[in-house]
Amino acid sequence: MDYYGSQINKLIEKLAMLPGIGQKSAQRLAFHVIHMPEDSVKELSEALIDARQNVHYCKECCTLTDQDVCPICRSEARDHRTIMVVETTRDLAAYEKTGKYNGVYHVLQGAISPILGIGPADIRLKELLTRLQGDVDEVIIATNNSLEGETTAMYISKLVKPTGIKVSRIASGVPVGGDLEYVDEVTLLRALEGRTEL
Ligand code: ZN
Repeated sequence: MDYYGSQINKLIEKLAMLPGIGQKSAQRLAFHVIHMPEDSVKELSEALIDARQNVHYCKECCTLTDQDVCPICRSEARDHRTIMVVETTRDLAAYEKTGKYNGVYHVLQGAISPILGIGPADIRLKELLTRLQGDVDEVIIATNNSLEGETTAMYISKLVKPTGIKVSRIASGVPVGGDLEYVDEVTLLRALEGRTEL
């Protein structure tokens, strides 16, 4: 039975497409939006469209940014000879929150997963190799401790080793299968400080 009419149903349906939003949450959000001031709804919809249109990958590190080169890559205060490899921009944000890492990043935008059919060419590895032709002292692999993260770490260490650049892997203080963004800052710092050379 159609309780709401097609406009509300359409809104619920679109919201339910977002990850982590079930039917109930979608309904709750839809009714919240309907009761919001019209200006606020307009701002929300504009923010969605602007972000989608203007955000792309940083030319250097492949993180998501609305600039050609992201603020971290542009910063002269950062150590550009140390590159931490992470899976997603969210992981980068987690390390940035610790405020203790002064190097730069490389964001793979995924991880190798034979099960899902994601191979080395499907993530931003080629871009990493190009960067390694410059002045780099160390590559810190901070992919997740999941099967995919470990597979990716192993693959990268094999690629980097012949270049003579130091490769290290963050310590396994991070719970297995745990997404980096959910791990607290102390654990992240410990994992970084306790990294081992591969
Ligand atoms: Zn960047």
